[in-house]
Amino acid sequence: MELQRTLKRTVAVEGIGLHSGNRIHMKVLPAAPGAGIRFRRTDIPGRPEISATLHNVINCVHATTIGTRDFCISTIEHIMAAFAGLGIDNATVEIDGPEVPAMDGSASIFVYLFKDAGIKIQGMPRRFIEVIEEVTVKQNDKKVTFLPYNSFYIDFFIDFPHPVIKSQRFKAKITQKTFERRIAKARTFGFLKEVQMLHENGLALGASLDNAVVIGQHCVLNQEGLRFSDEFVRHKVLDIIGDLYLLGGPIRAKVIAEKSGHDLHCKAVKKLLETKSAWRYSNCHDVDNLAEWHNRVAPRAEAFM
Ligand SMILES: [Zn+2]
Repeated sequence: MELQRTLKRTVAVEGIGLHSGNRIHMKVLPAAPGAGIRFRRTDIPGRPEISATLHNVINCVHATTIGTRDFCISTIEHIMAAFAGLGIDNATVEIDGPEVPAMDGSASIFVYLFKDAGIKIQGMPRRFIEVIEEVTVKQNDKKVTFLPYNSFYIDFFIDFPHPVIKSQRFKAKITQKTFERRIAKARTFGFLKEVQMLHENGLALGASLDNAVVIGQHCVLNQEGLRFSDEFVRHKVLDIIGDLYLLGGPIRAKVIAEKSGHDLHCKAVKKLLETKSAWRYSNCHDVDNLAEWHNRVAPRAEAFM
């Protein structure tokens, strides 16, 4: 049985927000067993906080955003992937702005920070969401399928009509080692045309060659090139790992994704949670806490679709 984990100490970092272009300060603090991953806005009176679970997702078109009517926290997916990849169950993220700093566009700096802080094992079992029946969500040519599996496995396929990307497929059992070595460093990417359009509309003001792979008409514009020849699909794997952590705990399943993005990932998480016969909790002994936890992750009816 695996036990829950948090950080041994608080870590701090600052960086540019992808959308606002503003400098954002972030701290990640250890949290008690059962607390889950929570985000706190320190720039708002009362320092409101919110748990990073599906029912708090308010937008997931280009990035995954959680929030309420009064405040939001955007672009949480890469730091969520770092928590998932390192098996960190409990932590509080404090930020003084509306988005998680983009850093280098991957999860590698978060992984570095968490490992530098050290991981503390806590006295409560981890609660896995174990898939026991197939669940599929489709949207046009995009698809996400969950299948029963005795571990966590991802098979991701992308197909972009662009000579730099074309079709790429990445499949692997996702362990901490796989995540650190093959996934965490993969950066987000965008097409130069789109970035220019977004800039003209006052969006993605922080996006640059420092925090994204930018693709021109025929080649990658970043001088250093790619970190992996299939960096694009690896980044999609990073994204889905972060989005799946909105389940409120680690998943035990084979996940097959075709051309999907944040929006479909969130819909897939919602459908899985709603299909009660398709999953169960495993490695959990405390029934009272289980019920409370289920209330916390259960999606609100109005959240999606
Ligand atoms: Zn991403």
